[in-house]
Amino acid sequence: MNHIYGPVKSRRLGMSLGLSVTPYKYCAFNCVYCQLKNTTRLTLDRREYVKAKAVLSELGQFLKAYPDCKKIDYITVAGSGEPLLNSKIKDIISGIKKLTSIPVALITNSALFSDVRVRRDVLNFDLILPSLDAITQDIFEKIDRPAGTKIKVEDIINGLIALRREFKGKIWLEIMLVKGINDDLEYIKKFKEVIKKINPDKIQLNTPSRPPSESWVKTPLIQRLRKIQSILGKDCELI
Ligand code: SF4
Repeated sequence: MNHIYGPVKSRRLGMSLGLSVTPYKYCAFNCVYCQLKNTTRLTLDRREYVKAKAVLSELGQFLKAYPDCKKIDYITVAGSGEPLLNSKIKDIISGIKKLTSIPVALITNSALFSDVRVRRDVLNFDLILPSLDAITQDIFEKIDRPAGTKIKVEDIINGLIALRREFKGKIWLEIMLVKGINDDLEYIKKFKEVIKKINPDKIQLNTPSRPPSESWVKTPLIQRLRKIQSILGKDCELI
């Protein structure tokens, strides 16, 4: 199987069967905390990097052969790059829905949500887990190191606000916290105002748990994480 991994026990999703729909580390970001190390293709170009047909055929075979499908909580479109760079994502989600009733989740870095065509492509997912690590351009560039200067964090935020209006499923917003970069409490208070506009169903605070791309990346202390959680309110959880 080239495009399927798991099922694995995931901290956020329970038992998750992963689908990888881009080649290794094709991404619009090169995050300092990325556990997959440096991005090999830093790009915003959407293409059918991995054939939708191939992904769906593998999934179909897997579901027929795997006896414990009922134990899978989510089929998760994610993998080792940014899944929305695959221009056939809409066909992939429609195809999955024809094969199974298992809920389908999408893990994305949110970089392309400013594009209405991308937002239309994801409407059939049951759950979207977008990430947003910064609300200002300077910190966004420091932590996520986006492709060129074309990506504006303001556009990403507006894209997420629009997604909330258009998408009927659940949205769990992830913030990856890196010590000394985006964990300042005054910054988090401003973050809270932006999150209110996005209005996700949940906020999930994450920290780098595996060796990051940059060795200087550190996790904030637990006391700081708890403080951040209390600022962001009852819908915020530490994962
Ligand atoms: S968006 Fe995800 S895959 Fe891309 S560099 Fe960041 S952590 Fe890695």
